[in-house]
Amino acid sequence: MYLNHKTYYTLNQALKEEFGEKIIKLSIDGGFTCPNRDGTIAKRGCLFCSEKGSGDFTSCADSITEQMEQQISLLSNKWNNAKYIAYFQSFTNTYADVKELKKKYDEALDFPDVVGLAIATRPDCLSEEILDLLESYSKQTFLWIELGLQTIHEKSAVLLRRGYPLSTFDDAIKNLHERNIRTVVHMILNIPYETQQQMRETAIYLSKKTIWGLKIHMLYVSSDSDLGKLYQQNTFPVFSREEYIDSVVDILCRISPNIVIHRLTGDGDKATLLAPHWIRDKRSVLNGIDKKMRSEKLLQGLLEHQLCP
Ligand code: SF4
Repeated sequence: MYLNHKTYYTLNQALKEEFGEKIIKLSIDGGFTCPNRDGTIAKRGCLFCSEKGSGDFTSCADSITEQMEQQISLLSNKWNNAKYIAYFQSFTNTYADVKELKKKYDEALDFPDVVGLAIATRPDCLSEEILDLLESYSKQTFLWIELGLQTIHEKSAVLLRRGYPLSTFDDAIKNLHERNIRTVVHMILNIPYETQQQMRETAIYLSKKTIWGLKIHMLYVSSDSDLGKLYQQNTFPVFSREEYIDSVVDILCRISPNIVIHRLTGDGDKATLLAPHWIRDKRSVLNGIDKKMRSEKLLQGLLEHQLCP
């Protein structure tokens, strides 16, 4: 049974099993950019990407150490004995030469009470040399790599301007797994024109992969993204809170119970949020998911790999 009467395997539970104490993630902007923005692949980035490269709570104006100190001072009233995972969140955090990457990762790891490293990147930014570096960190600390797949469907990936095919993702997962490196994959629900059946297909595909964790996001429409412009032309509908809860529950039931659920709702910058407004109330979304799972006696993985209801 999952801890705290949860009906799914939470990151809190996984970290408690590993460390036996409270672990907090500290979000870091390592000052990287992204090949999907700097012209190497494209210049406009993913359709939903905000000006901060999907790292809306970070600021590269400060050093890595300063960013960590600032977050800890905000958290110290609530958690004064916690340990930390340094989370390189903004843009593509393996997009630099190995020497620079090592310097930045080491600065974060050398910070007191840091017990692990989480690195968000793209599957096409994992050369052999970088994989070797990551493997060396996985031997000395608790490491996971996050990959923003969002969907397995090529048409949706083109619409999102993701900039790599599914085969690149598959190769990255295989390479990381061969090196015993944990992977966390992001998927987005309510991508314009995708059906619930297509979302299920993505979930089932991921559930069969050797991934450690999953982040499920509601499509977040930000005014500083190209998605925001598309939304203002009224070209696609956005889920209501209830539709999102139904969709998440449907997906959770198809995900292996061994996969750690890192997130069930988005956390973007509220100042630039265009839609959906209910996303601001994260607690009510999470409670709604729990309530539905419990009242319908559902559990993560109950319908594992089952495409139809
Ligand atoms: S890969 Fe990430 S940082 Fe790069 S454009 Fe897409 S969402 Fe933004």
